[in-house]
Amino acid sequence: MKKEVTDNSIIIIGAGFAGLAAGIYGRMNGYKTRIFEMHDKPGGLCTSWERNGYTFDGCIHWLVGSSPLSAFHSYWEEVGIAQKSEIINMDEYMRFEDKDGRTVIFYSDIDRLKQHLLAFSPQDSVLINEFISGIRLCLPFNQASKQVPLLRRISKKIRLGFTFLIKGKTMQKWMKTSALDFAERFMDPLLREAFREMWIPEFSMFFMLFTLAYLHEKNAGYPLGGSMPMSKILEDRYLKLGGEINYKNKVEKIIVKDNRAVGIRLTDGAEYSAERIISAADGYSTIFKMLDGRFADEKTREPYEKWPIFNPLIFISVGVARTFREEPLTVSGFSYPLKEPVKIGDAVRERVWIHIYNHDPSMAPEGKSVMIVMLNSVYDYWKEMADDKDAYMKEKKQIGSAIVEILEQRFPGISEQIEVVDVASPLTFERYTGNWQGSFEGWLITPSNSNVFMKRMPQQLPGLENFYMCGQWIEPGGGLPTGIMSGRRLIQKLCRTDNKKFRVSKM
Ligand SMILES: Cc1cc2nc3c(=O)[nH]c(=O)nc-3n(C[C@H](O)[C@H](O)[C@H](O)COP(=O)(O)OP(=O)(O)OC[C@H]3O[C@@H](n4cnc5c(N)ncnc54)[C@H](O)[C@@H]3O)c2cc1C
Repeated sequence: MKKEVTDNSIIIIGAGFAGLAAGIYGRMNGYKTRIFEMHDKPGGLCTSWERNGYTFDGCIHWLVGSSPLSAFHSYWEEVGIAQKSEIINMDEYMRFEDKDGRTVIFYSDIDRLKQHLLAFSPQDSVLINEFISGIRLCLPFNQASKQVPLLRRISKKIRLGFTFLIKGKTMQKWMKTSALDFAERFMDPLLREAFREMWIPEFSMFFMLFTLAYLHEKNAGYPLGGSMPMSKILEDRYLKLGGEINYKNKVEKIIVKDNRAVGIRLTDGAEYSAERIISAADGYSTIFKMLDGRFADEKTREPYEKWPIFNPLIFISVGVARTFREEPLTVSGFSYPLKEPVKIGDAVRERVWIHIYNHDPSMAPEGKSVMIVMLNSVYDYWKEMADDKDAYMKEKKQIGSAIVEILEQRFPGISEQIEVVDVASPLTFERYTGNWQGSFEGWLITPSNSNVFMKRMPQQLPGLENFYMCGQWIEPGGGLPTGIMSGRRLIQKLCRTDNKKFRVSKM
């Protein structure tokens, strides 16, 4: 639809990856963009924080599109992250240990992974081969960049077409299989447990396969320095393109006149107007609080009533005066069983998952290390505690102590070396980023809603003009690359509406 444009002004709510991307591509295309961000720094969930000389990273494990040979890499070049980040690729995705000293290793390299899994459990060879074929099925989705010779690029394109044409049903099968259902088919108890827990049990298997395919192609590397430097690169790119950001400005309402979004009102009462409003903030607060639910029809409400979200987390960061050079470098760490089940927060835990940041020395002072423990949690458990600050603080303290004891089981003597323990709850995530129920990645893609991944959620609300959304709440599966694509896709759409050619530039 062709739209009459007056002054090209856009207000963007939120300076997470999606909001900054909307700003960057907006500026590249001549829009006057102003971002309003409630926090005092950029990045939203892609963040880190400092405690006693340690940097605790709250986000990045793998960055899809990190390989210059991948077509997706050009997006990272457009926003400046490719040029300014040093990427490392790790040989292992994760390890899963049992009580008897057996360890399953999920190698990044597919052939090595296959060899290891077959040797680990020959009785599961049929299922292991099916799993490995599933990863190979996803390889063509990683299309080649212009750095790859033309013939190889064409051959990858043909392979992708072939995959859609011939393997469509197999893809559907993986999409419709949850990690839990797949795990239950293993005969070896440790493999069964590992497949059940290494991913989110309800998550569609297709995305586990995808990630492993990207890791194999060294296209899901880790940017040294972690999350915050990436967020600052985006902020810098946006500002250098002439964009404006207003920090510590929380948007309370989106102002609507005659079913058109015309401005925003901040919590301090200040009002700002623009021709278009984009919300790159949390979906629930945008639709049901900033807009009072006035433009939420049944279809808009459905996900908020029925779809599962990525569980909120209890996120425990530990600073320890010790190195772990002997431990392997892994993308996601390792899981080990506890001597006895322990109640931590809302659940009794039988094993924990530890991620040692021995791959990124910049996170800790010389001779010291950061360890992160992430535990799935339940939002309501914390919400009930929200009004009782003492109970909340006591709970966090208890969790910290429990983790120290658990670490002591695996690394005797460590409790003497631990210098800092920092516990973030789902309420912390909610407070700092506004994300609904403290979710860390928005909508989970499960066998029952996997069709939305293909169809995409709409970027507009019914009956409301000049208003748009981008970010993880309209891109099931979430993630940083999705945030960039979401902002980019939206600006492309605006350019089409305004009959302008969509332009991008690289630094
Ligand atoms: C522990 C963890 C690990 C992760 N690992 C990875 C990984 O390895 N790879 C990967 O790709 N992704 C990962 N993710 C997911 C990724 O961080 C998110 O999907 C992505 O950052 C979401 O970006 P976004 O811009 O959509 O939303 P957000 O980052 O939530 O940004 C929304 C912004 O809006 C602001 N805001 C909200 N409400 C208001 C308001 N009323 N007024 C003004 N501003 C407001 C918030 O402060 C925030 O800055 C991880 C996330 C977590 C937490």
